[in-house]
Amino acid sequence: MREVFCCHNLSFRPSYEKEDISDGAARLRVPGPAWRLARWFVAEREWEMARFGTRLVEGMALLLITLAVPIVLWFPQMPAENDPNGRIGSTGLPISTNRDASGGRITYRFLYRGEAGALEDRLTLGRFLDGALQERPRWGLIDTRQWFDWAPDIFAREPGWAAENQPGWRISTWLRPDASVECDSEQLFWVIQALRLLDPESLANEIDMLEGSGQTVRIVPTHGPSDYDYDEDTLYWNPMSTEHIPADERLKWKWFQTDPLVALAHVLNHAWHDLCRGGDAASVEERERLAVAAENRLRHTLFLKDPACSHLYPRPGHQETWPDLPGASALEAWGNYYGRVPY
Ligand SMILES: [Zn+2]
Repeated sequence: MREVFCCHNLSFRPSYEKEDISDGAARLRVPGPAWRLARWFVAEREWEMARFGTRLVEGMALLLITLAVPIVLWFPQMPAENDPNGRIGSTGLPISTNRDASGGRITYRFLYRGEAGALEDRLTLGRFLDGALQERPRWGLIDTRQWFDWAPDIFAREPGWAAENQPGWRISTWLRPDASVECDSEQLFWVIQALRLLDPESLANEIDMLEGSGQTVRIVPTHGPSDYDYDEDTLYWNPMSTEHIPADERLKWKWFQTDPLVALAHVLNHAWHDLCRGGDAASVEERERLAVAAENRLRHTLFLKDPACSHLYPRPGHQETWPDLPGASALEAWGNYYGRVPY
């Protein structure tokens, strides 16, 4: 680019002088010394102006190139709303490609019990058009177990909804089936959808960021405790766990009652921490503080949304020796939970 402007500079002055002699003299026909002095003065000023102009153009070109580099690097990360493959935005927010006939944006989430539109004694799934809950359809489920029976049929009838376009699809393909554990990719996909619809503000973002990290983890179903291996990037998940089995069997805390979704939320947080937040360098205490906070967030969400989960207590810390938070009921215990627990 610079060479082009240099050539322009070099050729500019001779051509101007040539023009000065032939055109100026021919037009005025008074080639006296005063005229030549005046022309020389004007030509020098114009030459200075021309040189300033070319330098200005050079400077602007350099500025444009400097600005263009970050724009080119940033552009591929921009969300492409019309592209089904562009469902993950740079912000990590889920991008819905579902539109109704009028072009409105369709989203879904589970409602809180007592929230306007929630069905009594049911886990209610709502359908939203441009953020507003629709009267119909609405689905009332007995519990999350029923979700796994109903969800494929519910979404098969939803126009424009395709499983492979949903965040969580990619994660479900990371499953390495174990013949001894009943769990396949399709099952895992619907569990992840339940997590997204229960907690679209936080857990759904972790799921998006995990898929957008460009890395993968191995997901291994297990009969044992759910766990995450930071060195091997491997997530172990027990899809049947409803009770924490303590090493010391004399311990009997109420918070030992759990749910496979709660276990998955915990280990998915570890995977997110590892792949998206450099968790390899963190201490065990820091890793578990984050994962227990994520687990408690889902425990509380299930407690507030699913009538079948009203027995779920907050987890008081990572160690199984920690007693339940004070309170005669799960509701009272949640009243004594302040979002942070000891390791
Ligand atoms: Zn953990």
